[in-house]
Order: sequence, then structure tokens, then C-alpha cells
Amino acid sequence: MKILIIANRLPVKIEREEDSFVVKRSEGGLATGLGSLETDAEMHWVGWPGIHVDDENEKQEITEKLNELNYHPVFLSDEQIENYYEGYSNSTIWPLCHYFFSFIQYKAEYWETYRQVNALFCEKALPFIEDDDIIWVQDYQLMLLPKKIREKKPKVNIGYFHHIPFPSYELFRVLPEREEVLEGLLGADLIGFHTHDYMRHFISAIYRVLGLNCNLDEISLKDRIVHVDAFPMGINYEQYHQAPSLPDVRKISERLIGELGNQTIILSVDRLDYSKGILHRLNGFANFLEHHPEYHKKVSLAMIVVPSRDAVDRYADLKIQIDQSIGKINGIYSTLGWTPVYYFYQSFPFNELVALYDIADIAMVTPLRDGMNLVAKEYLASKREKPGVLILSEMAGAAIELTDAIVINPNDTQEIEAAILQALTMSKKEQRVRLNNMQKRIS
Ligand code: UDP
Repeated sequence: MKILIIANRLPVKIEREEDSFVVKRSEGGLATGLGSLETDAEMHWVGWPGIHVDDENEKQEITEKLNELNYHPVFLSDEQIENYYEGYSNSTIWPLCHYFFSFIQYKAEYWETYRQVNALFCEKALPFIEDDDIIWVQDYQLMLLPKKIREKKPKVNIGYFHHIPFPSYELFRVLPEREEVLEGLLGADLIGFHTHDYMRHFISAIYRVLGLNCNLDEISLKDRIVHVDAFPMGINYEQYHQAPSLPDVRKISERLIGELGNQTIILSVDRLDYSKGILHRLNGFANFLEHHPEYHKKVSLAMIVVPSRDAVDRYADLKIQIDQSIGKINGIYSTLGWTPVYYFYQSFPFNELVALYDIADIAMVTPLRDGMNLVAKEYLASKREKPGVLILSEMAGAAIELTDAIVINPNDTQEIEAAILQALTMSKKEQRVRLNNMQKRIS
């Protein structure tokens, strides 16, 4: 028996460096989360290697490199990336599932390519599948895959996990391909979501679109039963909790503390995405600075935005708006010795990110919608001697578990402003009590 994870992307990406290819770690919650999975079973991955290549020899070279790690690449053409990944996945399903109704784009070629690429993933995975394997399909890019695999391998165990929110039926129903998408998912034996709310929305869609009942957590089909359940994704707690005391991480933290002096640091870490509420957060911080001059020169926001999907117009536009908003805040309030917003449009390696978690007094995680949000959990797990405060959006899946955070409505910039003040004035004792409760839960 082996576990075969099938995901849009492999947990590593291939990059071209001069005349060879190098293997690098992929960003994002999915890679981090599944990378922490501890199992004795042989584990294989099938997914896109994050690079476009046409040359068959190069494909062969990359495949051999990846096979050594039990990774099996699915190569996609530029046109497939444009219509399946940037198109149907990220311009139709993503805004739909994150309640950005007016951002949803429908194009016939998006759907056609989505079907074609799901079939391609099936074709590439089949040679590795044996009847006693566990196939674990990941996420919204591959919703048709469980059914496709089931048709070819009726006996195999198939799980599907949905890493993003599943929207209310009233929103889901607008999708022209709603039936085919749900039927695709029902090819699995077990369908998992981060929260019970997402699961209830899914069950409601199954009932209203396909007329199928769900008893407790079971959907009875003609010949099989499909289980549905909530499995809030966690992190490797010990890895994050121990990391700040590693010598390499300590060196970075000490350097940062030396550079920042006594300043209070509010940390914000997201991929570039309109669902993350980055502009609302900046507005909340700007309001705070306007109304609380007593905190000028004392508090800075360290904002990390990890480049993501910038080939999609919406994302490129958002990047410009973020640049402008930060430029405006810094333009108004900066002094020679104080920068209100430190802005990083780049991805940080683990050690540096953990050092930032360690030194940050406050983390602001305020997505407008988020399936889970691992950054919130990582920040809390990384806290040791020095406590910290988490300001968390009620629209993040993580809010269900992290009830000791300062939970806010991310659309309300006044509430963000008030939360910043509450976090800054919270006693160390209260910080410690809240932190302990949440650490217990995450660990
Ligand atoms: N991350 C990282 N480097 C960075 C910023 C983020 O490795 O500079 C990782 C972070 O540790 C987390 C993931 O990216 O595990 C983001 O996951 P999350 O669930 O918060 O959001 P997603 O990107 O999946 O929407």
C-alpha cells in the first residue's frame, strides 16, 4: 500500500538556472501542510512542476530528477496554464468559493481546458495506482479527478480535500458546471473540508443540485457510500515551536531586534490575493496612525506579500493598489528614523519567517475569506518567551479554533483600528493566558 497525493503542484518547483534545472520548495499552505504529514507508508506525489518546457529531452531530465524523490511531474502547456490554472481554477472557482461574485469570469475555453487537464492528471497518475493504494486528491483545481480515477480503478480508496471555503448554495448555484463538478467530487470515498460550515454548504449543494440526501455524514450512491467530514488542517506544531531556539534562527532574531530597537512590530504575511484583505488592513492601520499620534515612531507594520498569480490581471492590479496604499502611508507619516510600513514583496525562507514570528509583538491576519490560514497557527506556535497577540478575521477557517484571538470583521476598518489599540494595550498576563489556550489547541 502506498499513498499517492495528486495536487495541482508538486511540493517542489523546478527552476532553470543557466543550463541546468534546480529543485526548490514551493510556497503556500498546501505544500507546508502536507509536507508535515508523518507516515510510514511510501508516499508519492503527482503534480505540475511549476515550469514550462517543450523540449522532450528536458522533460525527461526533469522527470528523472523528480522521480528520485517519488515525485511525478505533469507537464502543462502555456495555454493549459492560462485556461485551466489562471482561468477556470483561479478566475472562476477561486472567486466563487471566496464570495467574490463580481470577479467570477466565465469562458468556454476555461471549462474545456479544466476538463482536459483533469483528464491529463488522471492519465499521468494511473500507471502508479494499484488497487490497495490510497489516492489523495488535493483541492479545487482537480475536482473532476476523483470520478475519473474511479471509472478506471473502481476499487481504489480515494480521498479529496478541499483547501478553500465551499460557498453557500446560493452562490454555488451560479456555476454553470455545478452538476459535473459535484459528480466529479463524488467519485471519492471521503470528501474533507476545513470546517463544518463548508461541509454543510457542500451537503446542501449536493441535495439541491443532484437531489441526493446526506444522512449524518454519509451520502448513499447506487453502489457506494461517500463520507463527508471536517478536518481542520493543522501545522507541525513542534517544528514551529522549537525553531526560534535554533542557533541559525536566533542569529536572525537578534539581528532584527538590534536593527529595530524598541519598536513594536505588527506582522502581516500573505500571498498576494484579494481574498486576504490586505488593502482593508492597510486602511485600518492608516486610520490607527491618524487617530493615535502617540504611537508614531513606536509602532511599525512589517508587511510581507508573497508574489502569487501575478499573470492574472486582478492580481497585478491589486499589487499596484497595495504599492500605492503603502506609499501613501509612508509618504505621510515617515520620519528620518521611523518607517511606518516595512514592505516586502518577496517570499521568505523558513528560518527568516520564524524569526519574524518570534520578534513580532502582534500578528494581523485579516482575510476577507480564507479556507483555513496557516500563518495564524504558525505565528502562535512560534511564540516562546515573548508572548504576542493575534488579530484574526472571523472569515478565516482558523477562527473556529482560535477563539482566544482578537477576532474581528475584516471589512470593518474601524474594528481593525480598535483591535490594534486593544492588542497594543493588552497586559502581558492576558497575552500569555490567551496564547497558552491557543497553543494547547494547535499542538
Ligand atoms: N510562507 C512562506 N514564506 C513566506 C510567506 C509565507 O513559506 O515568505 C508560507 C507560510 O509559512 C504558510 C504558507 O506560506 O505555511 C501560507 O499558507 P496560508 O494557509 O496562510 O495561506 P495560502 O497561501 O495557502 O492561501
